[in-house]
Formats: sequence, C-alpha cells, structure tokens
Amino acid sequence: MALVSEDNSKTVSLVSEDNSNTGEQSLVSEDKSKKTGEKSFRSLEILKLDMDKEFDKQPFGVDYGKLENGLVYYVKCNSKPKQRAALSLAVKVGSVLEEEDERGVAHIVEHLAFSATKKYTNHNIVKFLESIGAEFGACQNASTSEDETIYELFVPIDKPELLSEAIEVLAEFSSEIRLAKEDLEKERGAVMEEYRKDRDADGRILDDYWTLVLQGSKYAERLPIGLENVIKTVSCQTLKQFYQKWYHMGNMAVLAVGDFSDTKSVIELIKTHFGHKHSALDPPPIPQFPVPSHEDPRFSYFVEPEASESAVCINYTMPVVELKTVKDYKEMLVRCLFRSALNRRFFRISRRKDPPYFSCSIGSYSLVARVRLHGFTEREISVCKARLMSSIESEYIERDQVESTSFQYEYTKHFTDNIVIIGIEYEAQLYKSLLPDILASEVSKIAETLWTSCSCSIQIVEPHASATTDDMKNIVMKIYKLEKESSITPWEDEHVPEEIVDSKPNAG
Ligand SMILES: [Zn+2]
Repeated sequence: MALVSEDNSKTVSLVSEDNSNTGEQSLVSEDKSKKTGEKSFRSLEILKLDMDKEFDKQPFGVDYGKLENGLVYYVKCNSKPKQRAALSLAVKVGSVLEEEDERGVAHIVEHLAFSATKKYTNHNIVKFLESIGAEFGACQNASTSEDETIYELFVPIDKPELLSEAIEVLAEFSSEIRLAKEDLEKERGAVMEEYRKDRDADGRILDDYWTLVLQGSKYAERLPIGLENVIKTVSCQTLKQFYQKWYHMGNMAVLAVGDFSDTKSVIELIKTHFGHKHSALDPPPIPQFPVPSHEDPRFSYFVEPEASESAVCINYTMPVVELKTVKDYKEMLVRCLFRSALNRRFFRISRRKDPPYFSCSIGSYSLVARVRLHGFTEREISVCKARLMSSIESEYIERDQVESTSFQYEYTKHFTDNIVIIGIEYEAQLYKSLLPDILASEVSKIAETLWTSCSCSIQIVEPHASATTDDMKNIVMKIYKLEKESSITPWEDEHVPEEIVDSKPNAG
C-alpha cells in the first residue's frame, strides 16, 4: 500500500501530505514475524539495484486477467474481515466524457443503475441491497468522478448464493441499466438534492479552486454534478446514448477481494455473469484531455461569507509521474522527503508563539524560495528519512492485517491510473536500499520545480474582504525580489525535540 501514499492526483499541492509525516512520530508495533517464521523487517536484505529495472506490469499478489470480451478482473483471497467480500465494477467513464448538453449525465446513469436493470426491477434491487445489509441507493454504493464511475458492493458471503448474485448485479450495471423515462423522472429529485447540497460554502470554494487550477482544460467545465438545467430536463434518450457509447467491456474491470476459499471459483462466477457479453465492434477510444501548463501564476481572492476560516492554498499542477522503474521509485521517495521536510518547517512555524498567518501564509511561498537558496540540512532530511522508514516498517509489520477494501482501492488505482503493485515486501526492500543514500541536496533540488512560473495557482479564501488580488501578487513579487537579491536568510531549526523522550526506553 505504500505506493499510494504519494499524491497521484493530477495536481500536486504543497500541503497535500498525510498527517503522519507532519508532526508526530508514528509508533511502530512489535514485528510479529518472528513468531510466524517469516522475515522480520530488520532481516530484509538490502538489494543491489539496477536503476533502470522496470517493474512488472502484472499486479503482485492478486489473480489478474482479462476475458475475451476485454473485461479485466482482479480476484484475491483476504480474510479481513471474515465472511465478507468487497466487490466492485470499475468503469473508466466519468463526467469529462460528457458533451455540453450531457453535463451531469455520467452521474445520473450511476443513480439509475440502482433504479432498475433488465433483470432487476426497483423492488428487486432494494430487496437485494437489504439482503447484503447495504445502505440503499446510488452514491451510497457508487461514485462518479471526472474520469471514472465505481460501483461497490460489500457482501456477506456466508451464504454462497449472495456472492453469485452480487456479481450478477454488477454485470447488470455493466450493460443492462434500464434508463427508462419513469426511472429518470423518479430520480431527478434525488440528484437535484445533491446538486443543492454541493452549493454550500465548501462547494463554492472548491468550484472556485478547480476553475482556477484547471483553467483551459475540459476538466474545468466537467465537475461530475453537472448543470441544473441538464439534471432537470435531460431525456432518457440522451442517457442511453451516453451509456451505449462509453460502457464497454474494454473500459471495465471487476474486482473481488474477500474471505473466499479459493480464487478459481470466483473467477468462474465472473466468467458466468460477464463472459457472454459482447463488446461493441468498434468502440470509441477514451480521449485524453490535457491540463495545459502555464507560466503566469494564477490568483484567486475568494470572499465566502460562510467560510468557517481563512485559508491559503498554493498549488502546482504537474504531469503525473508513472512509476515504471526503480529510478522512478527513488524519485518518488525524494519527493516524499521534500514534502515531509517542508511540512516539518510549516509545522514548526505553526508552533511558534505568534504563528504568522494570513498575508504571511501566502509568504509560505518564501519557504520554498528559502530551500532554493539554502537547501535543507542533512539533519532535517535524516529526521524525515527516519519517519518514512518507520511508516514502511509499520506497514510491513501489519501486512497481514490489510482490509479487503484497501486491496480493492489499490486494484482500482492499478486499473484506472496504472499505479504499479509490486508487493509490500519488495517495497520495504526498496525503502531500505534507496532511502539511506538520498542526499539533502537531491531533496532540495525539488524546489527548482516550484517556481511561480511552474503552473502555480494561489487561492485565498476569507469570510470578509481584507485584501485584493493585487495584494497577493505584490507579496509574491516581494518574495521573488528578496530571493533574487539572496536576502532570504537560512532556516533556523531551533531546538525542539522530535520526540517527547530523547532516548527510547529499552523494551521489556
Ligand atoms: Zn449521486
């Protein structure tokens, strides 16, 4: 699971790190490997690495394959929790594929899956969801984003027929959603309610943020909730057209992770329910919609009277880096260390007596400028390395405790975003082999990719107007000038202990 600890979304934000690396040291529980005879973290050997070695595209530790019609499957036995299975149908179809008059349609199709399919009338679907103890309805059991739609069912499998039926329901979603006029009319209200909920303060702030960051790309105009007008008036013909155009076996995967006795029988069930489905002869390829880079920084000063607090967000939009080789993996670790070290500085500033905030927060940009001028110290980086190592050690030790839903998430990412799955043991070895040799100077270099000319967007949200966009620009210009004149002083890491006790007590 370690791979997903990096932000793999299309945009990378300075503050987008998980909290585990911002402040407190995580506690590592005792490695139980000794008892099971497996290798302990400490005894995992250091690898002699060929940096150009490519990772296997085949995901590790899961039965993975493709049916003749193009449907991909992932099946894994996992007993956390017992007698349960996490199933999903992942479809690489989201709101970005909508035309102007279809804005919101991907999400409405998802809703109507739970209304009726060829085999299941509304009543039957409710009965089935009740039988598996699921909360009823779309958006409880499914989600639509710009790039994908995911249907999920969490099923008790003590009664074997439920597993087969759940896979059958997913198969119905894949090609047999009824999309009838009466289903649509009944569902418009529920979708409009969601639309209205999205119009609250947080929703407005997010809208402004995405519009700022994604300007110039189709993504900026394809938030999944869509347009009010479309939700209220779209016809079931439009829904059917969209569904038939994009829902193809070649765009889908079925994932099943659960307390199965074997994977074979589950694969057989998938073949039974999906195997006979045909894919269209000539399905349209899914187009790419690039997010253009920009040299001029973008600013938004957003006044939102209902905002609960003021906030500053500095975002750099970067191309997604695919992890293909050991070298890519090392670079990912370098970026993790950079974020961790920068967040450590943020954290320390926030602990000062009068933490600077506000107009100064935008000045947090000066932290990056300071790294460019003076770099991080070896000590700072060694603290961050220790944290990263401790987090992978915890994951390694807890490797038998992974929940089925976590695997399900990992396989979904493998399918939708090509995130490689190389196994926790190999990852732990990579950490042990790569981390110790990373230099502070390598980490500091990341700051060179964070100039305001590198697709930078800055959003400030305040409940009341107290500044203007020009004020924001002036602060950035001032920092730029100070950096040019080398007038930014080095970071002073005043002595604050990393942990409450300096030396750890002996065990026992
Ligand atoms: Zn919904």
